Amino acid sequence: MTDAHKYSIRPSNPAAHLFEVTVTVAKPDPDGQVFAIPAWIPGSYMIRDYARHVVAARAEADGVGIELKKLDKSQWRAAPTSYPITLTLEIHALDESVRGAHLDTTHAYFNGPCVFPAVVGQEDTDCALSIENADIDSAKKWRVATSMKTNGAEQYGFGQYIAGDYAELIDHPVEIGELSIGEFEAGGIPHVLAIRGNTRADMARLCHDFAHLCDYHMQMLGKPSDLDRYVFLLHAPGSGYGGLEHGWSTSLVCSRDSLPVRGDEGVSEEYRTLLGLVSHEYFHLWNVKRLKPAAFTPYDLTQEVYTELLWVFEGITSYYDDLALVRSGLIGSDGYLELLGQILTRIARGAGRKRQSVAESSFEAWTKFYKKDANAGNAIVSYYAKGALIALCLDLKLRLESDGKHSLDDVMRECWKRWGESGDGMPENGLELVCAETVDADLGDFFNASVRGTGELPVEALLREFGVDFHTRRAQSRADKGGKAAGDESLPAVWLGATLMAIADKPVFASLTNGGPAELAGVSPGDEFVALDGVRVNVGGSDSRIRRYKVGDVSTLTVFRGDDLLTFKLTWAEAPGDTCFLTINTDDSARNIRRSSWLKV
Ligand SMILES: [Zn+2]
Repeated sequence: MTDAHKYSIRPSNPAAHLFEVTVTVAKPDPDGQVFAIPAWIPGSYMIRDYARHVVAARAEADGVGIELKKLDKSQWRAAPTSYPITLTLEIHALDESVRGAHLDTTHAYFNGPCVFPAVVGQEDTDCALSIENADIDSAKKWRVATSMKTNGAEQYGFGQYIAGDYAELIDHPVEIGELSIGEFEAGGIPHVLAIRGNTRADMARLCHDFAHLCDYHMQMLGKPSDLDRYVFLLHAPGSGYGGLEHGWSTSLVCSRDSLPVRGDEGVSEEYRTLLGLVSHEYFHLWNVKRLKPAAFTPYDLTQEVYTELLWVFEGITSYYDDLALVRSGLIGSDGYLELLGQILTRIARGAGRKRQSVAESSFEAWTKFYKKDANAGNAIVSYYAKGALIALCLDLKLRLESDGKHSLDDVMRECWKRWGESGDGMPENGLELVCAETVDADLGDFFNASVRGTGELPVEALLREFGVDFHTRRAQSRADKGGKAAGDESLPAVWLGATLMAIADKPVFASLTNGGPAELAGVSPGDEFVALDGVRVNVGGSDSRIRRYKVGDVSTLTVFRGDDLLTFKLTWAEAPGDTCFLTINTDDSARNIRRSSWLKV
């Protein structure tokens, strides 16, 4: 252990959002040691160039400063020396997302890729990390939550931690602050839930429900041999939503109000969404963190890495996240079918599914899915949502083809055994191969149409075989996410073919559907919607205004494009039936049996 790289991190100036990070290398490269900060973080496929937050860098050997040359946007080289080198970086941290690093006088949070430089050429060496506290009064009650193994530090304390190599060092996000901590066991190992934020959440209820969900996933895929503790880091501000998966932990953001308080019964829609997020990130512990595309073994964090398989790792995970809620009994079948109806709606409303396949969406994630613009709805498809529907179709297809003997569960277990536990990485054709082997049938047509092509998925026909009827209707309002039958109110006959957002309380066209009435009239994304037939429009009231028109009516639209006031003629067209919902049909007993076996209810 004497030659481990010695890292340290200290919130050196919380008010200025500055961390001081050091790394000492015992045996530097005799030609001049190179240090590199990653350009991206695994799980979020966009070049972020974290080195741009480094505000000062210096190196010393044997107590004397040595030359440190910047080689490119992310790398430095220290002058050759035979002494151990210490590199010191000052890093600005004001990104509160789960992908960033954030420091102020109330807490510190960081992801390894944002703050720890790699010792290039020695990435396999052990890494010792000293986590130090800020020297400010408000930090006196701070505790440390991370899945990194302690090496002398007390549980939740400052001090020494250890990681087996650089990849592991940067896969343990760290939250430091006044934390509420709950502990529970699942799959026979300890789990921790550390919450930042004044939430008044019912910690016992959260631990109970999370344990239930984690146990379900553990039963399905089995405990990975290198998993001996798991940590949920949860930040609960007034609003926000998101998560990022790691090998032994996850960072989550949800709104404070989505957390149940003591006395709450049942599962609110907001809490159901959080449980889905927890389920999603936990499933990633297998699917993408250990079973990953061969292209990711190992990750090249200096540049984009291309694979057509993100739909497998995000789509199948998105399928199992909600499915685990119903299978483990946290929600009922109706609740599950509502969630499925919402995914169907998201895909039905995006014309991009006719232009881009999920294989392409995966491959182009770096510049398209992660850099959505106003035309995204027309041009790209989500490999999460359509991937989840492909997973649904595959699951139902495998069950039908094998007369109920096999399912996607078996496929995932086999993929896990073949490429996950071994660490080999899944080849690009891996999933298709295992699906075909599982049911001894050629699924080439399905994969060509659904994965590599832009064909409509056979969801309706497949669900019917499981006693689930598929319905579509027009959207009720801007807030209508689908998943439910319409209420009593009549549905609007026409639509704008556009989404509106409020900027400084003014309605602005955010995106337009190709061929929709607004686009045909000449409206452009970014136009401020001033008036409809001479009457001012506001975002909140736009639904009730639109309800007053019939198909074929012609209106005058007034918009500001920059400083210019423009007037357009808009012909109202029939609103599409792109809102989906599902209902259970119990007429056929064979189909009822299939449904029970699928949903485990
Ligand atoms: Zn995910």
